[in-house]
Amino acid sequence: MTRVALIAHDDEKPEMIDLVRDYEDELARFDLVGTGTTGQRIMDETSLDIDRKQSGPLGGDTQIGALVAEDRMDGIIFLRDPLTAQPHEPDISALLRICDVHDVPLATTRTSAEYVLDGLVADYED
Ligand code: PGA
Repeated sequence: MTRVALIAHDDEKPEMIDLVRDYEDELARFDLVGTGTTGQRIMDETSLDIDRKQSGPLGGDTQIGALVAEDRMDGIIFLRDPLTAQPHEPDISALLRICDVHDVPLATTRTSAEYVLDGLVADYED
């Protein structure tokens, strides 16, 4: 089963909801993991089911990084706020690093997220 993580900083949560709505049918076929608040908002505003981890500042990014380290993630959509420093910046850097180590595609913007999701959908349909 394709497993995808969905994470968005506060300023990017509306963009995440918009993205997820555009891909709702495709995402419904995937196993979805998310940080706490992002995951809750997606479940409130769509019909998708999310395995919610901790909120980002409480360790959610680290939990998702652990799944990457165990080769249990196929892609990460992480809509980051590039303008606001986050209290859990070290955890975010660790997640980016472990995705590089394991060659797990990680998108940090809307357009790159669409490319990653299109690729995962194409792989799924192969
Ligand atoms: P959140 O965490 O979804 O719980 O807000 C996102 C983040 O990593 O900042």
